[in-house]
Amino acid sequence: MQRTIRVKLSPSTAQAELLAETSRLFTAAFNAVCRVGWEQKITNGVDLHHATYYPSKAAYPTLVSDLLVQARVKATEAVKSAIALQKAGRKVGMPQSAACPPRYNVHTYKVDWERQTVRMSTTGGRQTIRFDIPDYCVQYAGYPVDTADLMNQDGVWWLHVVVTVPAPAVEPTEEVVGVDLGLAQPAVTSNNQFLGKRVWKDIEGRLFYLKRQLQRKGTKSAKRHLRKVRGKQARFRRDCDHVLSKQIVQSAQPGATIVLENLTDIRKRSKIRKQTKTSRRVHSWSFAQIKGFVEYKAEGRGCTVAGVDPRHTSQACSCCGHIVRNNRRSRGRFVCRKCGYELHADLNAARNIAAKYHASVAICDAGGLPVNQPIVPTSTLLALE
Ligand SMILES: [Zn+2]
Repeated sequence: MQRTIRVKLSPSTAQAELLAETSRLFTAAFNAVCRVGWEQKITNGVDLHHATYYPSKAAYPTLVSDLLVQARVKATEAVKSAIALQKAGRKVGMPQSAACPPRYNVHTYKVDWERQTVRMSTTGGRQTIRFDIPDYCVQYAGYPVDTADLMNQDGVWWLHVVVTVPAPAVEPTEEVVGVDLGLAQPAVTSNNQFLGKRVWKDIEGRLFYLKRQLQRKGTKSAKRHLRKVRGKQARFRRDCDHVLSKQIVQSAQPGATIVLENLTDIRKRSKIRKQTKTSRRVHSWSFAQIKGFVEYKAEGRGCTVAGVDPRHTSQACSCCGHIVRNNRRSRGRFVCRKCGYELHADLNAARNIAAKYHASVAICDAGGLPVNQPIVPTSTLLALE
């Protein structure tokens, strides 16, 4: 499996200038390829290479060929996804970057873990630069390296090195952990864990209203302030998602299966549903990010991640399977109208999510995993889908 190590470079003043120049030219090459791809609607890497390689080589003669190629590879991805979004009806402009991190590979850099130095191509030839490894990724140092991205953050140079480490030798177990993601309670698992912090919702709410006020104001300074708030919100959400995904993965034993609702279609769903204040905010919070974080951390623990259809997970009774919208009497509590079963609403949903996974496995390969929790009868769930 692949892990990313962030190592801190200690270049000399002259080397730092070379790194800055390399980054500047790499970004310029990236933007130039994006322009060609966007204007001529080219999304094929080979075609873009033919259209841009020699002009780029002439424009940026100090950038080594492989970095030019990597700039084109990154630009191809950017153009491809922008054109795909445009085809899907979204409003997008030509992809351009203010600082596109140079991508290094076997041709352009070499790491010496023992000496803690990296030899890397710059606009001023190959340079040997010392680095430090932060404590939290020392465990991954020394493994074979793949690519690396050069980043500058507040004047400090970092190399994000992708390394290939052996996956933990863990046998898959039969444990299944259903996870209900929400706002009031960020995550509840079917094994009774209440994860994340309730205060996140208040912070998110404050940022949301602040953004809306600034959008209404529309003045130049309001727009500038809005950009800052957007950045702050993105960082806040990323931090929350890191904390939450770590807690989710640690709530499962190594080898377990973690089951999430497939919420990528949430935009489509919220059109069907009544647009409530909650659904609007849920759908703006990226599900793809938390899912990606959970998958990354699960891999390190020898767990797998599965997704299930989110329909009826909050309206079904996890004891008898009865599904009625007003089963859910209040946000906090679930009370079944049929059997009288009473439970924390999110916990009920988490158990339904686990049950849905059990049901889907039982269908996929007959004689699948034994079911060891109170579940919704498979027949009821299938009848409704
Ligand atoms: Zn019931």
